[in-house]
Amino acid sequence: MEKLKQIYEGKAKKLFETEDPDLLIQEFKDDATAFDATKRGTIMNKGVINNKLSEKIFGLLEEKGVPTHFVKRLNDRDMLVKKVKIVPIEVTMRNIVAGGMSKLLGLDEGIILKEPVLEYHFKEDKLHDPLINEYHVRALGIATDKELEAIDKYSFKVNDELKKFFDSKGLILVDFKLEFGRYKGKVILADEVSPDTCRLWDKTTKEKLDKDRFRRDMGNVEEAYQEVLRRVME
Ligand code: ADP
Ligand code: UDP
Repeated sequence: MEKLKQIYEGKAKKLFETEDPDLLIQEFKDDATAFDATKRGTIMNKGVINNKLSEKIFGLLEEKGVPTHFVKRLNDRDMLVKKVKIVPIEVTMRNIVAGGMSKLLGLDEGIILKEPVLEYHFKEDKLHDPLINEYHVRALGIATDKELEAIDKYSFKVNDELKKFFDSKGLILVDFKLEFGRYKGKVILADEVSPDTCRLWDKTTKEKLDKDRFRRDMGNVEEAYQEVLRRVME
């Protein structure tokens, strides 16, 4: 499958049409942004690492019954995916307080939540992806009840499966972001699952092995991404 016209270039990925109107090629770049793209940089080999990690994780989730856009990995940076209409919601799942939740509620990072917290953020960069609830989603017609039901169910399932999976690799899944899309009348998981979109801490040392190393100028960013890949592939 070859790349035809580029239809989108985002902060971390590019999308290309293919000869099949139902399929796109998603190319993973090394570009990294944070704080609504006010901080920009590159993380060497990030694209290659996130492509492989997403392949592994989408494969695992499919096996566990979560439908995803993943078709196959084509090469180092390219992945063949089903073309979806993205539901403009970024779903955040949290197991431990960090980042946005710590700031919003004035809580220390690292507090273990009694149960996972699901948040919807309206996907609109210029509004900084504001936090919304299911009433906003319904009242504004952002998604239907049925779609929201599927999104919630899959998000909790992804959390359960990935918590277990990362734990078996010596990693704590602190929080993550998911995006869903509409494909042939159904909602499926899209975008990527990687250290760009998940917070992962080493189980023993609590060392951060994710994009927070870039956001907070902690150094060894590429090494952290490589370490996650190494453990996940073991
Ligand atoms: P951003 O748009 O936030 O800069 P990216 O650089 O990751 O993010 O760009 C990828 C874009 O592609 C995102 O807007 C995402 O919602 C969208 N997307 C992800 N998977 C699919 C898919 N299967 N079909 C269509 N669009 C997708
Ligand atoms: N996240 C993401 N994209 C975003 C915002 C958040 O992938 O645009 C991920 C982030 O990496 C973290 C989780 O979602 O794993 C929760 O992020 P949070 O709301 O704490 O925001 P942040 O700290 O990134 O501002």
